[in-house]
Amino acid sequence: MSRQDNKNTLSFVQPEPNGPWATYLSQVDQTMPYLGDLARWAETLRRPKRCLIVEIPVELDDGTIAHFEGYRVQHNLSRGPGKGGVRFHPDVTLQEVMALAAWMTIKNAAVNLPYGGAKGGVRIDPSRFSRREIEKITRRYTSEIGLIIGPDKDIPAPDVNTNSQIMAWMMDTYSMNVGAAATGVVTGKPLQLGGSLGRVKATGRGVFVVGREAAGWSRMPIDGARVAIQGFGNVGSSAAELFVAHGARLVAVQDHTGTLFNAEGLDCAGLAAHAATHGGIAGFAGGEPIPDEQFWDVESDILIPAALESQITAERAQRIKARMVLEGANGPCTKDGDQVLNDRGILVVPDVIANAGGVTVSYFEWVQDFSSFFWTEDEINVRLDKILVGAFKHIWDTAAQHQISLRTAAFVVACTRVLQARAERGLYP
Ligand code: GLU
Repeated sequence: MSRQDNKNTLSFVQPEPNGPWATYLSQVDQTMPYLGDLARWAETLRRPKRCLIVEIPVELDDGTIAHFEGYRVQHNLSRGPGKGGVRFHPDVTLQEVMALAAWMTIKNAAVNLPYGGAKGGVRIDPSRFSRREIEKITRRYTSEIGLIIGPDKDIPAPDVNTNSQIMAWMMDTYSMNVGAAATGVVTGKPLQLGGSLGRVKATGRGVFVVGREAAGWSRMPIDGARVAIQGFGNVGSSAAELFVAHGARLVAVQDHTGTLFNAEGLDCAGLAAHAATHGGIAGFAGGEPIPDEQFWDVESDILIPAALESQITAERAQRIKARMVLEGANGPCTKDGDQVLNDRGILVVPDVIANAGGVTVSYFEWVQDFSSFFWTEDEINVRLDKILVGAFKHIWDTAAQHQISLRTAAFVVACTRVLQARAERGLYP
């Protein structure tokens, strides 16, 4: 038997073909030719540093005992503490959380935040549980992962189906266990508990800022641009609002309740108000309902997937009629879907920079918590803009220099930073 484990194999997961972990591994493979001597260390990117699987038993309101599976994966801690959200979704798997944690490593390094990458999840459909039950599940999950999180170890944040209230319960649970108010253990908290102004809309704002930059460098005006968005949650609705405020037309929106089309542009504020009261966009009178699959055929200038991963398959990518795909979600393109978009000359602005606004303002929140000195919303937005503009330009120039996609360029920038830190720290023992 060889003295070394086979490359690309972990005994505890078989990468699902075209699933998120396989997609991430293929992205690392594409980066290899550009890493020079650092390639020697690259296998570290294919192996998460630490995966914690926890069992969450909870007594429900009707007296029965339910069990949930939870995860916290720390993919890489070479550049600093772990950082990344926690999602509540019935389809969460270890493999998905591994990919999401790995993308956080890349995202944090691409933007040059002093963090490693981590992610968490609980396999649950939160819409089927009461507020009290969700609180109990959140608290038990936090207590179980309490072994590995902390303000200087790993800092969770909101993600799909989690919000500032859930962060408040996580902060309280951790604080009770350590015997002190530890505000820096999570970000995306309510303002009263050390949250930051601008955090709620930061991911959507970042999608807009990076989209504006990508459009500018490719000479595409935002004023008059047709925008189609999949997902009208926190990210999709905030990004839509900013694009519309800058003269774009929202021609199509899809969420879990349906798909709406309006060639003249949907009324974004009206749609957001409708979605808030009705739990989704279905039934909004200002647009024509179309079959969900037709969303991918709509003509647009900027298509923003802002829902879940693996939405843009090769088949859908063939049909997309957009000039730019701006990834608000994490991992929305499969490996094959990404290839088809590249072959067709559609500019793909990758998740690891397009949606980095959220974690960037999380970083601001964490810094404010440590210094107990809070910034104005204007200061937050100006700093966010500056960081994203600089990070995007660096990636754009790297892509031009090597004649590679923006995704591979973002990976080259990020992996170089991560592996440099790895090499400089050296191996212990
Ligand atoms: N969940 C967000 C993301 O995927 C934010 C993570 C954070 O703020 O730590 O980037």
